[in-house]
Amino acid sequence: MNIIPFKHLDSVPMAFEAKREGALFLGTIVHKKHNIAQLNGTITGNIFIPCDICAEVFEKILEEEVSFFLADGIVHENDNELEIVEIENSVIDLDELFCSELELIKSDYFCCSKCEGTTLEQEF
Ligand SMILES: [Zn+2]
Repeated sequence: MNIIPFKHLDSVPMAFEAKREGALFLGTIVHKKHNIAQLNGTITGNIFIPCDICAEVFEKILEEEVSFFLADGIVHENDNELEIVEIENSVIDLDELFCSELELIKSDYFCCSKCEGTTLEQEF
């Protein structure tokens, strides 16, 4: 369990860490106002995903900057540019958040180095 109760958040950023397979999610959560908090983090490490062209599973190195708001309950006004994630039961479940971030990354288009052509292969 990797859970932070919303009411424990403060205007001082709270550090968090979540791990899943070979990937690491590090960052901070800070209370912004009322029922809104902001999460800033980075996802590093690697995941194994199938190539969209040849379907062969390959290692994808992760280097993602993640930033979004967390809302404890319903948000009536959205004057923010960032995405808002509504949390359940007034707790922030970091493992679940990380899982959905990884699913989001996996849903992007990816192809392995063999399918990417010769220009990228020279970098390996
Ligand atoms: Zn491929």
